[in-house]
Amino acid sequence: MIVTGGSRGIGAATARLAAERGYAVVVNYVSNKTAAEDVVASIKTAGGSAIAVKGDVAEERDVLHLFEAADRFGRLSGLVNNAGIVYRAQTVAEMDIARIDRMMRVNVTGSILCAREAVRRMSKSRGGEGGAIVSVSSVAAKLGGSGQYVDYAASKGAIDTFTVGLAKEVVEEDIRVYGVRPGIIDTEIHASGGQPHRVADLAPTLPMKRAGTAEEVAKAILWLASSEASYSTGAILDVSGARSILP
Ligand code: NAP
Repeated sequence: MIVTGGSRGIGAATARLAAERGYAVVVNYVSNKTAAEDVVASIKTAGGSAIAVKGDVAEERDVLHLFEAADRFGRLSGLVNNAGIVYRAQTVAEMDIARIDRMMRVNVTGSILCAREAVRRMSKSRGGEGGAIVSVSSVAAKLGGSGQYVDYAASKGAIDTFTVGLAKEVVEEDIRVYGVRPGIIDTEIHASGGQPHRVADLAPTLPMKRAGTAEEVAKAILWLASSEASYSTGAILDVSGARSILP
């Protein structure tokens, strides 16, 4: 299983849980080599199998390299499109094109490129044996991210639509395609978006009075990727502690 952005946060929790469930895991990262190597080391210490592969999902050359490294590691049965970015809170009126381009390139183009490579390998008509693709969206796709990051929310809306369309496109290839929409999850992404206290600040306002953990999202991802979810292809599962259904 390839986990993009597997070095930290939801991706790291997913990589660890995937290894526990018996997958050999490719832990992709873009810059934090130490974090990726820590995830690989913890998997190996627990008796699992993993490698770290550097690559920017927004760069086709890097994506090809990532999948070639995975090919040398074993047959691809799962892809978790997890790598994603946010930027500092801005209104649409304040956004420059560099921000909007990079947001779409990482969150949308990167996920589609990785899915393309996975489909090329998993499709029965191309000699593959099927598989599962899970993309990490966000409840922001439903809420809209007004005043914070409408560009990010729109990128996740694109992921939801891509998930629905790809699920139908490859259903006869024995490839299952899913999404998860996390709510507020306690990871470093909030600090990278300039809001290090976001989780603590928002927790009391959330329906469950707490943020979710990366492990709680990882469990949903691994369930969807498993044969337990065999008839749920096309589903996008909220993992948001009911946040998304607030008005
Ligand atoms: P995080 O803690 O900031 O970790 C981000 C991960 O993505 C890191 O492993 C990072 O690698 C990697 N990454 C970033 N840009 C990349 C690129 N261009 N190519 C490859 N890898 C890249 O984030 P997170 O909170 O776990 O978020 C993971 C996913 O969940 C994202 O898609 C995010 O939008 C989504 N999500 C998160 C929340 C939340 O509240 N946390 C809510 C909804 C959705 P390095 O370690 O090398 O930097």
